Amino acid sequence: MSLSHQQCRDAGKHVCQEPSGKTCIEPGCESPAGTWWGPLWCPDCDQARLDAISAQFEALRGAFR
Ligand SMILES: [Zn+2]
Ligand SMILES: [Zn+2]
Repeated sequence: MSLSHQQCRDAGKHVCQEPSGKTCIEPGCESPAGTWWGPLWCPDCDQARLDAISAQFEALRGAFR
């Protein structure tokens, strides 16, 4: 299973931050947004989002095995 933010995991922190000047669009999250993967989510929410997507993808692949 591929994990998102691999460089961040290796570094032990989010090295992906690229401040967009916006606030994270995740409800209830007030963190500054902006990562290599887009300007709308903060690094923590982006990682959770990408992990959820890849988990769904893996589940789909399993269903067709
Ligand atoms: Zn990151
Ligand atoms: Zn967030």
